[in-house]
Amino acid sequence: MSTRSADLLIVGGGVVGLSVAYNCAKRGLGKITLLDRGRIGRGASSRNLGGVREQFSNEPMIRLMKYSIDVWEGLSKELRWNVLFDQKGYLMLARTESQAEQVKQNVRLQNSIGVNSVVLERDDVAEMLPQLKMDGVKCASFNKRDGAVHHDAVLWGLERAARRHGVEIIENVEATKLCTTSGRINAVETTAGTISTQKVINATGVFSRDLALTVGIDLPIRSFRREALVTEAYKHFLKPVFWDLTLGLLLSQTLRGEVLCDTRDPGNEESRDTGVSLSFLKKLAREVCELFPALGELHVLRQWSGTYDVTPDGSPILGESDEVSGLYFASGFTGHGLMVAPALGRLYADYLISGKKPKLLEPFRLSRFAEGKPIVEPLVAGRKIA
Ligand SMILES: Cc1cc2nc3c(=O)[nH]c(=O)nc-3n(C[C@H](O)[C@H](O)[C@H](O)COP(=O)(O)OP(=O)(O)OC[C@H]3O[C@@H](n4cnc5c(N)ncnc54)[C@H](O)[C@@H]3O)c2cc1C
Repeated sequence: MSTRSADLLIVGGGVVGLSVAYNCAKRGLGKITLLDRGRIGRGASSRNLGGVREQFSNEPMIRLMKYSIDVWEGLSKELRWNVLFDQKGYLMLARTESQAEQVKQNVRLQNSIGVNSVVLERDDVAEMLPQLKMDGVKCASFNKRDGAVHHDAVLWGLERAARRHGVEIIENVEATKLCTTSGRINAVETTAGTISTQKVINATGVFSRDLALTVGIDLPIRSFRREALVTEAYKHFLKPVFWDLTLGLLLSQTLRGEVLCDTRDPGNEESRDTGVSLSFLKKLAREVCELFPALGELHVLRQWSGTYDVTPDGSPILGESDEVSGLYFASGFTGHGLMVAPALGRLYADYLISGKKPKLLEPFRLSRFAEGKPIVEPLVAGRKIA
């Protein structure tokens, strides 16, 4: 490996690491190296469903995602690469009284922060989703600024732009140990030698805890397997991203007509395994046919799984470590890392250039757990968060 020093070393070449690398390089932060132990984007970033939304249940995430959607709206132009951001809306379906109360409360909170989501009554839902079986439907929340992107297009666009701005991308090299002197980062040991640096971003997804442990920091991040599948193309029947809160079933129809699906599966326990299971396929097929009977005739093209880096409150851990200066966290996304990545890239560039932590990042500090100030996000696809 030719590199032996960097002004900023980003460990992890998923969507988060790439977005931070691109933005910092564009802003002229100096020599930036991005390291991945495999190929760029082979982690969770190429295994997700591409959902993007500002409909969250807590103020810090709503504000962060409101900003992120602003960035998404201009990203294709900025990158000179179409990331296929389709603002087709996002609908969250309530089929119990408590869910209906929760979505109404969320909409009130979102509206108070300037997010224009709305509550759809039963008849509005039926009109928007004519193929949905309406049994038990109470209401839904909906936001037309939300939607979906194509994850591969995002990764390719960010990688190209990062390289164009001079980021050195090193694949198939693993960071094995963070090194410090007097409580400061001074180097990172890798499988291809040592890189000296004063600033490291730990953007290693479900592996973030392992890397932080090499300097004695125990990040409260666990890894959960999550399966998904895509069907053959079907006539367009579903405009918004659709999420049934009772089942945990999530459907999104691509521009070409394929249907991306995933659902809550008790079989998907804490694990880093990325295999697939028949039990998931059966459960998902049953649920899809129950809600959208016409889809029963569809063939499945591909099934896969990835991992969620899950924190105790369902919100990410961001910002510099209190214990080791120069070490920055960017993980624990609990299923929301793709949608938040454009905002994080911009905010980390501001942060590293000014030395001042942006307000939008402040609530996500690691110390919030010890302070008893969790940012609880109960609406996590596929997982129940306390
Ligand atoms: C089925 C599924 C559906 C999802 N749906 C959505 C969705 O709709 N919307 C959304 O926003 N999010 C969704 N997500 C979550 C989203 O994919 C992740 O939050 C996001 O991709 C995290 O990106 P990342 O860059 O932090 O991590 P990753 O993409 O996992 O990247 C981490 C990288 O670090 C590398 N690495 C690890 N350890 C080391 C090391 N020691 N040295 C060097 N490199 C290392 C890995 O090889 C990997 O490439 C979903 C996830 C899954 C699995």
